[in-house]
Amino acid sequence: MQPSRRLRATVALTAATTLVLGVTATASGAVEEAGIAPKTSFTMKADGSSGAAAKGKAIPNLDSVKATVRAYYNATNGIANKTTSPYITELASIQAAQTAYLDSAYATVTAAGKVPAIVLDTDDTTLWTYDMEDAGMGFDFDPTLQNVYVQEQRFPATPGMVPFVTAAAAKGFAIFGITGRNDDQRAATLANLTKVGYTSFAANQFFTKWTGKPGSTQPSYITCATTSCTTVEYKAGTRKHIETDLTAAGGKKYDIVLNVGDQWSDLQGGYADKTLKLPNPTYYLPSPNLPGVSEPALAPKTQFTMEPDGSSGKTVGGESIPNVDSVKATIRSYYNAVNGIANAKKSAFVSEMKTKTKKTADKIKTQCQKVKAKKGKNPSVVFDVDDTLLWSYNLLDAGSGFAGDPALRATWVEKKKYPAVPAMAKMVRKAKKGGCVVIAITERPASEASQTRKNVNKLYDYAFGKENFYTSGDKAATRAKIKTDRNLRILWNVGDQPMDLTGGNAEHRFQVPNPTYYLP
Ligand SMILES: [Mg+2]
Repeated sequence: MQPSRRLRATVALTAATTLVLGVTATASGAVEEAGIAPKTSFTMKADGSSGAAAKGKAIPNLDSVKATVRAYYNATNGIANKTTSPYITELASIQAAQTAYLDSAYATVTAAGKVPAIVLDTDDTTLWTYDMEDAGMGFDFDPTLQNVYVQEQRFPATPGMVPFVTAAAAKGFAIFGITGRNDDQRAATLANLTKVGYTSFAANQFFTKWTGKPGSTQPSYITCATTSCTTVEYKAGTRKHIETDLTAAGGKKYDIVLNVGDQWSDLQGGYADKTLKLPNPTYYLPSPNLPGVSEPALAPKTQFTMEPDGSSGKTVGGESIPNVDSVKATIRSYYNAVNGIANAKKSAFVSEMKTKTKKTADKIKTQCQKVKAKKGKNPSVVFDVDDTLLWSYNLLDAGSGFAGDPALRATWVEKKKYPAVPAMAKMVRKAKKGGCVVIAITERPASEASQTRKNVNKLYDYAFGKENFYTSGDKAATRAKIKTDRNLRILWNVGDQPMDLTGGNAEHRFQVPNPTYYLP
């Protein structure tokens, strides 16, 4: 990481030098391209904490993450392919790899006079929630909608798990279910399991969580540090209960030889001879370890390789895809967002913007003045609108948990609700002060041009005249046309998306970091 950052700094210096010398900077364009392209390797902690000190580019872009997840599940319109996908292939290999262990564990445990047992979580272990998460919720979890899916028994089986459980039961393993779903969802959950082909979940060996309502209270065998139990306290406590308190036919005790779950919190806390993690990059449900317990092996990865177009999802394996929830948490800490509202004064994003624009704004002003002083073409600076001049963070996060809400977006456009991107006002002001024509090019449709321009001008001292405001899907062509038709020299092109900044027709480029979406 360090060398490439140094390389970019060198490139920027070279570009500035060539301009001062009056040489066209096009020669350095190819080198600069590398700085515009998204990064492909990332370090990210699962809890989002890395975002507080990160540069925007070092955070996996949320759209790229979703595309990667969809490639992994071979999903179309939010619906996972039910017959072929990298996910299905990986699950089959994980399941097949248990056979030898289960055979030997069965022999050992029965020889010791105990009944070997397997514990399985429900969501994304035996029942598959992908279609609900993606098509139903756009990866923005909605407990009310989830309950509809639960009560209507809408979940298919997790690929390969019905034969896996059926074979284990046939061999003689006792099958237990432990789910975070609650007692109000118990009947529907058992019915859903039966409906998709499971025959081994006996009601008295299936544990759902208490609701606190009469008849559904915390069992005496579950002890928790505080009144609200953590997932690990509940699940590990239930496994302890199975091994310690319950007896099988003939008075034998159970020995849990395998504990299967898609969340690390399903697996922490012991009371299983072996844990089996099923991949699930679509959400993350963390839970603290039991007091005094450390299980560093039962934790998500922190190093990731990801292509911006999602193609990595076909090859890297589920645990190596940045988890959607962790990426959102990282983004929120980068923007210092609370309840989906970014802190406009103090955040890693604001600091990065202040540092980046401070250097560039003065450079822009000087360059505008120099070109302006010469005879010939007039200098100009081109700005993208969304997330370059107008800040959509709160719309995207508070508005829809990054799931997208076209109606709400239309309201924001119509009512001119967008705030300014932090630190950009200064850059626009300096460009104007230096004598540059400031131009906005947005991919928003022409029908939104008037409201968009009003929103921008309200925040930027009416810097963008009607003649300097363009709507266009092809920004590079628009820049070429501006140069020719208006005899302008475009000194700087400022945007957040690679597509704003590629295609030439500008001498220098400035990229606003934006890990929240990606327009290829
Ligand atoms: Mg689960």
